Amino acid sequence: MENNCAKEFMNLVNEKGLSQQELKEKLQEIYRKNLPPFAEILVNPHCPNKCKHCIYPEDYHCHNKTLGLETWKGIINNMYEKLEFRHFIFGGRGLNNTIIEIIRYLNKNFPDIKVGMIADGPAIKKYYDEICSLRIDHFDISVDGLKETHDEQRNFPGAFDITIEQIKRLLDGGLAKGNIGKLSILATLTTINKEEILPMIKYLNEDFGLKNFFITPVSTYAGRPDKSLKPSYEETIGFIKETLEFFSRLNDSYVSFNIYEDDIINYLRENYSELYNKLKPTEDFFEFGEESGNNEFHFFWYPTAINGCREFIVNCDGKIFTGLVQALGKIPDKFIFGDVLEINKNREDFFKRLIESPAFDFYVGYLS
Ligand code: SF4
Repeated sequence: MENNCAKEFMNLVNEKGLSQQELKEKLQEIYRKNLPPFAEILVNPHCPNKCKHCIYPEDYHCHNKTLGLETWKGIINNMYEKLEFRHFIFGGRGLNNTIIEIIRYLNKNFPDIKVGMIADGPAIKKYYDEICSLRIDHFDISVDGLKETHDEQRNFPGAFDITIEQIKRLLDGGLAKGNIGKLSILATLTTINKEEILPMIKYLNEDFGLKNFFITPVSTYAGRPDKSLKPSYEETIGFIKETLEFFSRLNDSYVSFNIYEDDIINYLRENYSELYNKLKPTEDFFEFGEESGNNEFHFFWYPTAINGCREFIVNCDGKIFTGLVQALGKIPDKFIFGDVLEINKNREDFFKRLIESPAFDFYVGYLS
């Protein structure tokens, strides 16, 4: 079925005079018709790093228990067979052996699925051989600036040099041999690196031929990370305009700017209407794109209210939650939709329960 929830979402936003209950029912209807196409699985609650822009509290692993490999295999079987997921993304916290073994299990048993992984340079260094023994369709590496800025934002002296070394190794050992399908760079825009993301992109494009760059402003929730890291709306718009002028100087590139929080969109509507008016509802997002030579720039807005139509987020303890609320460390029940350990129904019935759970109010709150 064609996923058109961005269009349905905009129709709902434009419908005036709806009560809170009517809003909720109409949003639930959008979710029922647009079940999430991929699952993002946080297997490991622990991360050895201390990045300044991290939304997770450092002691996240103290509040969230982990499941063993055999339990994950059972969950994956159920997610594949009963929930019909064909796309799984791993990462978000530290890489560990369980993640490697789950992906090995997926590769061996489910040839028709897509696997994505997100990791930083030091994690790739530790698991390089294992990574290169897997089939990973898309691999995203975090780079947050040039040497000093990257190390400062990631709070890790030497991290940039390690990351560059691992990019070179992955280009030779993963991409060139075909077991990694696509290598992309993820950058989190903050007040620390707003001047250096574009020079970093130029460097990686010119010197290493990297083509795919995804930029996202830092997400904040419940005081995490420090809000002084969040660029102002003016700075964010300035950055977008600069990127629009800049991307044509690259070679064979795809640069995207991705907004997951809605507050900036309201500002954009008032203060940068040339771009806002060009946004088109497409699948589960709004998009504006521009081409120049062999380069592309894309602006994406993923409205928070329909985020759950897009991704199905599974915590390390098997609980399904809304996203952002990991900032709280111990996640309150009111933000938990359900539990993948309890998948015993078919896809429609399982999601029906999720959509009708009290946690759904998290999304409704973004519409009111
Ligand atoms: S941003 Fe990622 S790598 Fe950095 S501390 Fe957080 S989870 Fe770890």
